Amino acid sequence: MTLRLFNTLTGKVDELAPADGKALRMYACGPTVYDYGHIGNFRTFLEIDVLRRFLLLTGVPVQHVMNITDVDDKIIRNAAAAGISIQEYTAPFEKAFLEDLDTLKVQHPEQMARATEHIDKMVELIQKLAEVGAAYQTEEGSWYFRLSAFPEYGKLSKKDLSGMEDGARVDVDEYEKDSARDFALWKAAKPGEMSWDTPIGRGRPGWHIECSAMSMEYLGPSFDLHTGGEDLMFPHHENEIAQSETVTHQTFARHWMHVRFLLVDGRKMSKSEGNFYTLRDLLLKGYKASSIRMALISVPYRHQLNFTFEGLVDATAAVERLRTFADRLATGKFDEGSNDELQAAAKKARADYMDALANDLNTADARAPIFELVRAANTAIDKGELRSGDRDAIQLVLKDFDAVFDVLVDTDAEATKRALAWAEQAGRMNEVAPDLLARQGLSDETIDALVAERTQAKQQRNFARADQIRNELAEKGVVLEDSKDGVRWKRK
Ligand code: AMP
Ligand code: ZN
Repeated sequence: MTLRLFNTLTGKVDELAPADGKALRMYACGPTVYDYGHIGNFRTFLEIDVLRRFLLLTGVPVQHVMNITDVDDKIIRNAAAAGISIQEYTAPFEKAFLEDLDTLKVQHPEQMARATEHIDKMVELIQKLAEVGAAYQTEEGSWYFRLSAFPEYGKLSKKDLSGMEDGARVDVDEYEKDSARDFALWKAAKPGEMSWDTPIGRGRPGWHIECSAMSMEYLGPSFDLHTGGEDLMFPHHENEIAQSETVTHQTFARHWMHVRFLLVDGRKMSKSEGNFYTLRDLLLKGYKASSIRMALISVPYRHQLNFTFEGLVDATAAVERLRTFADRLATGKFDEGSNDELQAAAKKARADYMDALANDLNTADARAPIFELVRAANTAIDKGELRSGDRDAIQLVLKDFDAVFDVLVDTDAEATKRALAWAEQAGRMNEVAPDLLARQGLSDETIDALVAERTQAKQQRNFARADQIRNELAEKGVVLEDSKDGVRWKRK
């Protein structure tokens, strides 16, 4: 079974198979580790996970490379503001990102590559671009890509560049849609900013060059698939193509997959709009990791998904239904033999499920036959008509379903516990939903943290918060005694 996937480059649905007949070589633009990821970011990584898992399910090995952007304008700005090095600044966010992937059961790529560890590869590429006249250096020492050196510029995003001003430049990493310009490959060192001493001068890379350098380093000059969120199509991916193909004269990536945005109230979920939730925000509100995974992957990647809390509640119910059924199937006692109708239903459900995924990863259409099968099988169990042979057949279908959806094994409590431990350590216990705390039971550490937070609130004359903490603790049977030596607490 071959995956048919929409290809931004050709504008149509193309078959996707490894060009070398062995493994599918794919590159996914990874996170910029300047903050915690929001669930819009994770929607993109989850959809790429669906792709990867479906390929594996159909017997196609993948060689999946993802970059970690650990140097860019925002990182430099934030690290400087905090008075620490960019490594010190990014390390905890990179760790958090990997933990969040695990929480959401997103499989790790075969290869992850940090930008700061590939500076030499980027410099080599810029040198090659300079040799063919496609890169030039400005007086202050920065290097730019000469857009006029690549006449095919715009072929991915189908942009009309006729009004483009020759030689106009842009040096910020992210820029607006209508400003196709010569873009920065290398930025000359600025006082106080992190920089590298290299044969092309002292400075640091622009954002776009890292993906060209690292994808070609690990996947070769031409590979099967390149993916990312839809915002990256222009200018980022367009720039990657220009930088790479100018040097190699080969098709950089044959296939391009772009994940539509996660929206909130019809607007893009993003840090700059301020309308975002991180994964951790949602876990602390009491939502389960499996609900978030299910909600974010159930809408196919080419459809915009509007985030709502009702959507999470629906996803919770859907996961619950599947888990209850899987449990019933595993623990029930069934007579020997099989039931023709159920055998046929299981076969059809699996075929429809696989077809839907092969058809441009239509996760919504893939889910439907599974739930239909669950309904039919539940009815059969109620009537005593399900046999052990049917159980085995249905379990095989569930196994294939879970190879992609991965929601049946319940690790939600662990994920929530990890999030609470983080909140405690990060001083964010005030964001935890009270009923979640009640459900978890209060550990001594949690109580200590809340008591400390109350003391601080009082010092800051935030008596409302201080009283709120006292009351919440009281409700859970913890009484506080203020004394001149500080606050003591005890459980009632
Ligand atoms: P960043 O960390 O900002 O570089 O983004 C990491 C990935 O998340 C990129 O592939 C982005 O395109 C993607 N992304 C950012 N915002 C959203 C969103 N609201 N919905 C889906 N994907 C997004
Ligand atoms: Zn990239």
